Amino acid sequence: MLTAAAAPPPFCLGCYGSPASDELARALAARVADLKARGGVCEAYATVLEGSLATGRIVVRPFMWRIGTRLASAQATSTGEIDVAREIDPLNIGVRSLEDVLHSVEHEAAHIAFAIPSGQEWTETLVNERVGACRGRSQRVGAVP
Ligand SMILES: [Zn+2]
Repeated sequence: MLTAAAAPPPFCLGCYGSPASDELARALAARVADLKARGGVCEAYATVLEGSLATGRIVVRPFMWRIGTRLASAQATSTGEIDVAREIDPLNIGVRSLEDVLHSVEHEAAHIAFAIPSGQEWTETLVNERVGACRGRSQRVGAVP
């Protein structure tokens, strides 16, 4: 289905009815509902997530991309734009699980919700702790560095 020669274009979650977009948008909406039910910190970043999803500001790129010397799987702006990678890279095709993608998007939403800048070890730890606390015991998630 996916060939290395023809990379799929980035798409906006929920902006049009592609099956890939719909699957992710549905999964994300379910995460928003779960986070809101938990309240507090979880609800705070769920609100950001919901707003970004509803206004078409979550963009799924086909692969990870470079920011300076670093390979990024997601990034966000304070205005609510979230970019996230679906796969790892076109040559070494590594598919990220749906859970990996959701986790990345939640991570970025937490950066936005709590105005925590990215790129430093302690700020990343802070975001990972908050998001980790909001992902219940029953949720299986990928390893977070
Ligand atoms: Zn981060």
